[in-house]
Amino acid sequence: MYVGIEAGGTKFVCAAGTGPDDLVDVTTFPTTTPDETLGRARAFVADHTDGLRGIGVASFGPVELRRASGAYGSITSTPKAGWTDIDVVGPLRAVADVPIGFDTDVNGAALGEARWGAASDVESCVYVTVGTGIGGGGMVSGQLLHGLLHPEMGHLHVTRHPDDEFAGRCPFHGDCLEGMAAGPAIEERWGRPGQDLTGDQLSQAVAMEAEYLAQLAAAMTYILSPERLVFGGGVLHLEGLVDSLRARLVGRLNGYLAVPEITDHAERYVVLPALGDHAGVLGAIALADRAASHGA
Ligand code: ZN
Repeated sequence: MYVGIEAGGTKFVCAAGTGPDDLVDVTTFPTTTPDETLGRARAFVADHTDGLRGIGVASFGPVELRRASGAYGSITSTPKAGWTDIDVVGPLRAVADVPIGFDTDVNGAALGEARWGAASDVESCVYVTVGTGIGGGGMVSGQLLHGLLHPEMGHLHVTRHPDDEFAGRCPFHGDCLEGMAAGPAIEERWGRPGQDLTGDQLSQAVAMEAEYLAQLAAAMTYILSPERLVFGGGVLHLEGLVDSLRARLVGRLNGYLAVPEITDHAERYVVLPALGDHAGVLGAIALADRAASHGA
């Protein structure tokens, strides 16, 4: 049995189990101070030590993933108040001496979808979430994408949609992808959240979102050549967005990549997640399983 912890910027989700058909005690609590929030996560682990084989943490970031670093297992330079340089893994290890898998929330989601969900039939995938922010993770030949840090796909520079005069709201870059296309950008641009848009505003929002997300999809296709792009997060619930995104991606590639998997079957290349509401915490369970198998 494993414990998975989806450590999000607004809420934590903890669960015990081994996969989608075996998930128990799913527990959600808000992300408040590190002491209180990690205290609740530790208490959850303490309640599930019987037969525990591993823990997985899929965390908001940026996080330190280099094992040689003294700060391994920490959230590092996050803009979230009070959470800078907070050790997440260490306190959990003090509760249960089992292997702990630690990665970004989006790498966790990519692993979960690769294991049980929308990318279970391919060897490589990219997972992008478009919600409060935009983040991406991925897997190539069975390895999660790591390096000096981890991918930060949300901050790609994008070319503006010609009708878009919104200044952008990324505190670092202004009109990067996240600044233009994350949920709060939609809300600021139209004065209401995406799910409340109707009529012309909705079609305009869908057109702009599709245009911006297609630029990321094209960049990922060129750079990583994944077999599948999984787009999740609240913004993807905008009616018609995923279809429009597929069409704009194919249009943007403009015949340069004559790959039928993309040009003829975009509906199988750009997909929604298959794991639904529990995708994040299942990603964490998958990280636990991987850590236990590798003896991390
Ligand atoms: Zn940015």
